[in-house]
Amino acid sequence: MRNVVIIGSGCAGLTAAIYAGRANLNPLVVRGHEAGGQLTLTTLVENFPGFPKGVQGPELIELMQRQAEEFGAEFLEGDVTRVDLSKRPFTIEMGKETIETQALIVATGASARLLGLDSERKLLGHGVSTCATCDGYFYRGKEVVVVGGGDTAAEDALFLTRYAKQVNLVHRRGEWRASKIMQKRMLENKVIQPVWNTVVTEVLDTEKGEVTGVRLKDVKTGEESVKECDGLFVAIGHSPNTDLFKGQLEMNDVGYLITHDGSRTNVPGVYAAGDCQDHVYRQAVTAAGSGCMAAIDAERFLQAESSHGK
Ligand code: NAP
Repeated sequence: MRNVVIIGSGCAGLTAAIYAGRANLNPLVVRGHEAGGQLTLTTLVENFPGFPKGVQGPELIELMQRQAEEFGAEFLEGDVTRVDLSKRPFTIEMGKETIETQALIVATGASARLLGLDSERKLLGHGVSTCATCDGYFYRGKEVVVVGGGDTAAEDALFLTRYAKQVNLVHRRGEWRASKIMQKRMLENKVIQPVWNTVVTEVLDTEKGEVTGVRLKDVKTGEESVKECDGLFVAIGHSPNTDLFKGQLEMNDVGYLITHDGSRTNVPGVYAAGDCQDHVYRQAVTAAGSGCMAAIDAERFLQAESSHGK
């Protein structure tokens, strides 16, 4: 029987683990299949306070994990397959193994979204990627297409200019939503070629099993064209990893967990932190902040129960 189990090991989960550890709750962190979360898929993080020269995302995560371990947090590899939150202690299944816990912190984050094209799914890992920092290296001297208009697309496009000879940034509108500083950097970079008001309708070539180009459609004129390229990077945002909690925890129509009064969910003793419950800010620092809130809420819940029981 655990005091607190934390599902997820990104910024939110690890911060919750640091706080729960310092509260002597000996938390157990289930790392999940995207262990370390989105920061492990990024390079330089320039906006996490305390690092005036920036910090590499994977390094920041490693430091947080070490800090949590210092305070007694334990880590378990693997994925949760089922949870039962209908009664306490809550049960958490990982395949055949079952863990019981008095309190639960959900920090399962969000994963990259895809365009939803058959050809895209078929060529995923064969020229279609959702992680420029993981796969950019393979496109040295080649031409790539990035889809999206937010900060992720901007970051990916800029990162890819280190390798690719041309980065075509395809966006469905005539205006990016990326932050102003990223927009400026993109406009100043001659390797980036913006393609406005355009969507990708097919990735070529599924017959060959590799990316040779993309079919594009101008959403204003309806005109179709083919852009030859060697890789497609899809950078159109993320979806929350909350399927596990359907029917048990309140969520909005796109699956983000609903929290109130801090990190509380609709089930007493279950708290949510980070991108699985935040579709607005989605920053490393806000995820860390909400992880802290979840741990404090869980600690107070357990403390109130134990003093009630006395
Ligand atoms: P986002 O801000 O939601 O942007 C997603 C982009 O993809 C939008 O431009 C959207 O177009 C486009 N899009 C969505 N669905 C599409 C589809 N089916 N087909 C074509 N285009 C589609 O997501 P994000 O860029 O991942 O950023 C998420 C959050 O993380 C933001 O708050 C961002 O500031 C933050 N972030 C920050 C940094 C940083 O500070 N260094 C880095 C990465 C992310 P529309 O514009 O038309 O909606």
